[in-house]
Amino acid sequence: MSTNEEQKPQFSKLQIESRLAQIGSIEEPVTGAVSFPIYNSTAFRHPKLGQSTGFDYARTKSPTRTVLEKAIAELESGDAGFACSSGMAALQTIFALFRQGDHLIVSLDLYGGTYRLLEKIMSRFGVTATYVDTNDLDALEASVQPGTKAVLIETPTNPLMMVTDIELVCTWAKKKGILTIVDNTLLTPFFQRPIELGADIIIHSATKYLGGHNDVLAGLIVTKGKELSEEMAFLHNSIGAVLGPQDSWLLMRGMKTLALRMERHQYNATKIATFLQEHPDVETVYYPALPSHPGHEIQNRQSSGNTGIFSFKMKDARTIEPILRHIKLIAFAESLGGVESLMTYPAVQTHADIPEEIRRKVGVDEKLLRYSVGIEHADDLIADLSRAIELAKQEIESGTPVLG
Ligand SMILES: *Cc1c(COP(=O)(O)O)cnc(C)c1O
Repeated sequence: MSTNEEQKPQFSKLQIESRLAQIGSIEEPVTGAVSFPIYNSTAFRHPKLGQSTGFDYARTKSPTRTVLEKAIAELESGDAGFACSSGMAALQTIFALFRQGDHLIVSLDLYGGTYRLLEKIMSRFGVTATYVDTNDLDALEASVQPGTKAVLIETPTNPLMMVTDIELVCTWAKKKGILTIVDNTLLTPFFQRPIELGADIIIHSATKYLGGHNDVLAGLIVTKGKELSEEMAFLHNSIGAVLGPQDSWLLMRGMKTLALRMERHQYNATKIATFLQEHPDVETVYYPALPSHPGHEIQNRQSSGNTGIFSFKMKDARTIEPILRHIKLIAFAESLGGVESLMTYPAVQTHADIPEEIRRKVGVDEKLLRYSVGIEHADDLIADLSRAIELAKQEIESGTPVLG
């Protein structure tokens, strides 16, 4: 054992805040660098014939990416981690587990890109999907087909924040012999660890909270079990949608502050959601942290906290356009999970690929706004939002645009 090994704290015994802050910082044996280096090399020398340093070619395994992959596997209580070039690349890699005739059961209020991948791409390969409220066991039972291989859940969903009881679905799926895949993007392992509740595969758009700064596109997969981990390693290397060393480093850099950021995101989102819930021009607020939310209890049971995004419906759809024009501190932009506040209009942006009929069924309509609350001061964010709502109302009353 090198000195470096002896100096290593027993990671499994540390709290998650400590494990996050220390990602990669005790892995570099040569110089002792606290920030793990970026290894750009795609080729690695073999000591001699039949020998390897553990690294041969960077698509298969690359040092900086390996540190990230070990970290996410450990944080999610899984056996293996895989870093991909985006969340969609991670989903595509997972979907390569399936073949012609296979069928998936998927959360109804699904991320638009995942819906598009299933309906427009996977369908070409004979893989089909049924969209159900994954918290409804009767609906799950009714949608099982002879070829059903997996259930894919997002909890909470985006934008309507529907909460699924992960343990209940995993227990049900295990009895049926089907896999449970959980998209854990919105809560991250800091607040929710689905593998501990029985899930087989975790997928993250690490572009969101894990990266956290709206500056790196990445996806992560975590698997539980030897066989599944080996199969995923084969698919990850064969498909090749892997994350580069620079982005792997940037993602780890972001993950070190995940605990602090998630706590602030949750604090701000709760404060602003409560403000909006009491606002006379707001119809509904969808946020599981609010006791009025139907998924509040399940959320509290299976997660240690709440995400930083929520959605709300204005009473008057005509206020939406001017609100988006008048917000200043909050940017009108797609994406979520970064330190900067972003607001989007799901019906015409993130969810445009979902047919109107399905969108309406779940409630994504023209009155709905989604807010990814950043880590700015909550009072500044509330001031920005209430000002935009006031100006929007003035415009509607006067019939002319007002200058903010
Ligand atoms: C953004 C997102 C994805 C896709 O990830 P990309 O990194 O944009 O490819 C998948 N699932 C959820 C829940 C997301 O929010």
